[in-house]
Amino acid sequence: MESWKRRRWLASLGTGALGIAGPLRWARADDEACAPKDGKLLLQDFRPRSMLHVPETRVEKPRFPVIDVHSHLSWTAQAEKGVASGEDVTFTTTPADALAVMDRKGVRTMVNLTGGTGRGLEKTIAAFDRAFPGRFHTCTEPVYGQLLDPRYPQLQADAIEAAARAGARGLKILKTLGLYLREGLREGPLVKVDDRRFDPMWEACAAHRLPVFIHTSDPEAFFLPVDCANERWDELGHHPDWSFHGRDFPSHEELMAARDRVFARHPRTQFVALHVGHDAENLPFVSESLDRHPNMTVELGARIGELGRQPRAARKFFEKHQDRILFGTDAVPPPDGENYPQQVFKDELYEIYYRFLETEDEYFDYAPAPVPPQGRWRIYGLGLPEAILEKVYRANAVRVLGLAS
Ligand SMILES: [Zn+2]
Repeated sequence: MESWKRRRWLASLGTGALGIAGPLRWARADDEACAPKDGKLLLQDFRPRSMLHVPETRVEKPRFPVIDVHSHLSWTAQAEKGVASGEDVTFTTTPADALAVMDRKGVRTMVNLTGGTGRGLEKTIAAFDRAFPGRFHTCTEPVYGQLLDPRYPQLQADAIEAAARAGARGLKILKTLGLYLREGLREGPLVKVDDRRFDPMWEACAAHRLPVFIHTSDPEAFFLPVDCANERWDELGHHPDWSFHGRDFPSHEELMAARDRVFARHPRTQFVALHVGHDAENLPFVSESLDRHPNMTVELGARIGELGRQPRAARKFFEKHQDRILFGTDAVPPPDGENYPQQVFKDELYEIYYRFLETEDEYFDYAPAPVPPQGRWRIYGLGLPEAILEKVYRANAVRVLGLAS
């Protein structure tokens, strides 16, 4: 991270910041920031350097061309927690800047999940998909603002049809559904993931062959008290609003069960369960879900930190479900992306993903950051065979997105 960006990142951490003054590998015992004061070392100052003598492989390009099915190259301009009030979109990068990273890192195609709705969606598709055919695909999003209209179920289905006609390639469901969207949009009881009002939307996606990229729930630790036992204490310190402990939030298990009911009720609809099916910590559960729902696939975005700390279980998971796993990073371009180093859209991020999937390197960082941002651990490469790499990097996405191979 360049120093000005680091300062920006640190400045964004706010109170309770666990900011670190310099990259891990450059820390030295005689650095002022590294020397214990009065014999005490604060967690925020602890930056242990691994003494392992193990191979360090730099994988600059992937073994096969990549389709990254999870990125955010635009956002709806006026939105609160995923509930939009308008159709304007803001681009988080230019196509030229995105293409520069993609070409350097062997990414053939990016799928921009948050392409917006209506005129905003059309603008995104014109600037990216139509201007650079085959390099970008854009997805649409629900129009939650119309939820209060009794005609919402049909209006939403119609909006999906219109989006498909405009060139959308899928539907993105943010974790807004289940965790933020309320009966009065921003107040009242939370709307459930399997609410019947969305049934026509799921069916419209099947009719127009739009896969649904769905984010439900969050890491299990986000539902637990933010205390000394919480393995994501650092991350929740940086992003306090990511805690769903207490208040009226459903449990992680309730969210997963509601999601599964949707998958079962709409067997013709293709669901891509993002972030390793929303439970990368519990691969046996994700594996069971995949077995139960033939219309479900998963994506990797921002979860190699989880997969890579259980490399033997993860390798078995890839072997068993090699036709059901899609490559994705959840890429957010800088400068905002610097707030989430595990998903910052830049060369280093892709090199880490490729290293994780292709090599058997041991104990390395899962994010380009001075401190592991999601939890204080490091990861191990899976060393996947070529046949699986080809499916995960590309072939599975070609099938799910209905692209010409
Ligand atoms: Zn995302």
